[in-house]
Amino acid sequence: MVTLEKIAHLAEECRFDTMGPTGGVDTEKLSTLGEGTRHDVCASTFSPRETPLPGICHAFTQDGRCVSLFKTLYTNHCTHQCSYCTNAANCSRKARAFSYTPEELAKITISLYRSNYIEGLFLSSGAGRDEDAIMEKMVETARLLRQKHAFSGYIHLKVLPGSTRDHIKEAMALADRVSINLEAASASHMNEICATKSYESDILQRQRYIRDMKSEISETSETILPAGQTTQLVVGAAGESDEEIFKRVLYEYKEIGVKRAYYSAFSPQRGTPFENREAQPLWREHRLYQMDWLFRVYRFQPGEICHAFNDSGFLYDTDPKMAIAREFMDLPVDPNTAAFQQLLRVPGIGPRSAQRIVAFRKKQPIVAKAELTAMGVRIKRAAPFLKINGWRDTTLEMWQA
Ligand code: SF4
Repeated sequence: MVTLEKIAHLAEECRFDTMGPTGGVDTEKLSTLGEGTRHDVCASTFSPRETPLPGICHAFTQDGRCVSLFKTLYTNHCTHQCSYCTNAANCSRKARAFSYTPEELAKITISLYRSNYIEGLFLSSGAGRDEDAIMEKMVETARLLRQKHAFSGYIHLKVLPGSTRDHIKEAMALADRVSINLEAASASHMNEICATKSYESDILQRQRYIRDMKSEISETSETILPAGQTTQLVVGAAGESDEEIFKRVLYEYKEIGVKRAYYSAFSPQRGTPFENREAQPLWREHRLYQMDWLFRVYRFQPGEICHAFNDSGFLYDTDPKMAIAREFMDLPVDPNTAAFQQLLRVPGIGPRSAQRIVAFRKKQPIVAKAELTAMGVRIKRAAPFLKINGWRDTTLEMWQA
């Protein structure tokens, strides 16, 4: 386990100019800047996303591999006024302000990397007094890692709202992934959360820069930003519905081309203007991830997905795939004849089990539930929607009873 002291010790061996009060690396700084990333999500609730210690987090790659990242702010000083954030200028209980220098942060990262504690860096930041200056230092950190220390690990750089096109381009050339936090579902929700950021020009316009520069550079066949652009939203801070959030996310996937959207259930923090607002349940975040999965992986159409929302546009704490199946699947599906996409719509059948069904039935017909179970189908969920051997042996009503 990597303790804070261990991180400090590794960093200390680098002999920085900027030492803490005891002559060693300042563990308060490591801890504060690590904890300051609590609003930045690097993994969904499908995976354990708790940071075991300030500074180290676990994320999952697209192929399901767990990677450890050094997750930190460059600085926790910020002039923005996001009403849920403890780093914000309008928070009355702010931690002491700290900043790294690019050299210091690059050395800590490379020490942890060479000691096999991490596989990459997740670097976010407050905007400082001047977001251009902070963005430049974040880019400089990445440049030192890549060019001076020959760092070949993973880098995820947050792009600060309002960053210049040049800084974004440099960040894209050095990082595996960049992201700008969308935070809110619309400009009006953003106004409710933070009066100092422009939704259109500080955030959406910067996302378009990334999209356009990535496609321009890709035309020259250079590999750039292999892990793409992502974004994240705070769920429920401004009273927005799940449907409003999801419509925005659809826009992000279709028009901006983000690889992933991340969701973070609003949790009130002491000293912030939103400290008395109601915390949002984690299940709300989890159900949004399931909806996201249905759209990205199962290729459900927005017209189908919208049936999971209630009349007020909120999700229930129930599997949205089941809710959609109850709405759409009047007739049971025969696994011997159903198209792949039809199979995917059956609760309890995922892409892998659907593939196995298609492969199996090419050789012989499926005649028993046990065969489906062996193919990975969660038969208790699937049975009410299936007809095997001409029989549907469990009705939806029986299943619900
Ligand atoms: S921009 Fe907003 S969310 Fe980010 S650190 Fe500043 S106040 Fe916090």
